[in-house]
Amino acid sequence: MTANSQWNGQFSRFNLVAKTAERCRTVVLVRELAIGADNFVVMAGPCAVESEHQLLATAEAVAAAGAQVLRGGAYKPRSSPYSFQGLGVEGLKILNKARQETGLAIITEVMSEEDVDVVAEYADIMQVGTRSMENYALLEALGSCGRPVLLKRGMTARLEELLQSAQVIAEAGNPDIILCERGIRTFETATRNTLDLAAVPVLKTVSHLPVIVDPSHGTGVRALVPIMARAAAVIGSDGLLIEVHPTPEKAWSDAAQTLSFEEFDEMMRDLRRYVSMALAFEAIGPQLLVAGGAN
Ligand code: PEP
Ligand code: MN
Repeated sequence: MTANSQWNGQFSRFNLVAKTAERCRTVVLVRELAIGADNFVVMAGPCAVESEHQLLATAEAVAAAGAQVLRGGAYKPRSSPYSFQGLGVEGLKILNKARQETGLAIITEVMSEEDVDVVAEYADIMQVGTRSMENYALLEALGSCGRPVLLKRGMTARLEELLQSAQVIAEAGNPDIILCERGIRTFETATRNTLDLAAVPVLKTVSHLPVIVDPSHGTGVRALVPIMARAAAVIGSDGLLIEVHPTPEKAWSDAAQTLSFEEFDEMMRDLRRYVSMALAFEAIGPQLLVAGGAN
């Protein structure tokens, strides 16, 4: 390995996902949508698919506000076994109907390697949740699923570990990976998670993969979502993942962080000028990284 190819330190050993002189940027194509190009892509929708009415109403509202991708979990990883676990295949069929009616691409979570085929039948992007970032059987199965993967950072994972999981998917045959910063667990309790926005310029420097930010799970607080979305846009994120529901206070999961249609529309209008301020990360380069963790 030449000195030049090692500039990104410990990250360079993930050779399929690390940035090199030859491979600076991956653009992930989702139907006609390019993620990681110069456009800013917003994925929005409810935490969970609850009913056809709920999802179709949300799909229309987020499309009208400018979102390009509809999100909604049909398989829900819940911390409590007594919480709603998702509608499963019925939820996937509702997502499919929303795509037919609005033209939005669909992102939905896959939790188990056994579900990869059925989720890939309906989804345009396969979401790997924070709790599954280290589910290697799932990551390997996604290598041959034929769909792009959105890989969320584990809530206790270092960026190195996130890239390691991305490398597993790429090694298994799937180069179309989008990284997602969704907040990590720290000693802070004022927010649900600590949204690590520095992850964006670091990941954009060491990896060629697109990076998006999820300020909904990253804060857990509805009022903080639009302001952190602004920040994500300015620091060069390739897009956002946002939870939206017709009646957020009645959402079956993640109510406290979910935006109403009006709040989402306002956020999208507000974001335009911040997106145009985004920094050019190609310009930052290797000097961003100081090796080691010494204070
Ligand atoms: C979600 O996107 O609804 C979700 C469960 O996210 P995370 O895996 O980041 O908690
Ligand atoms: Mn959620």
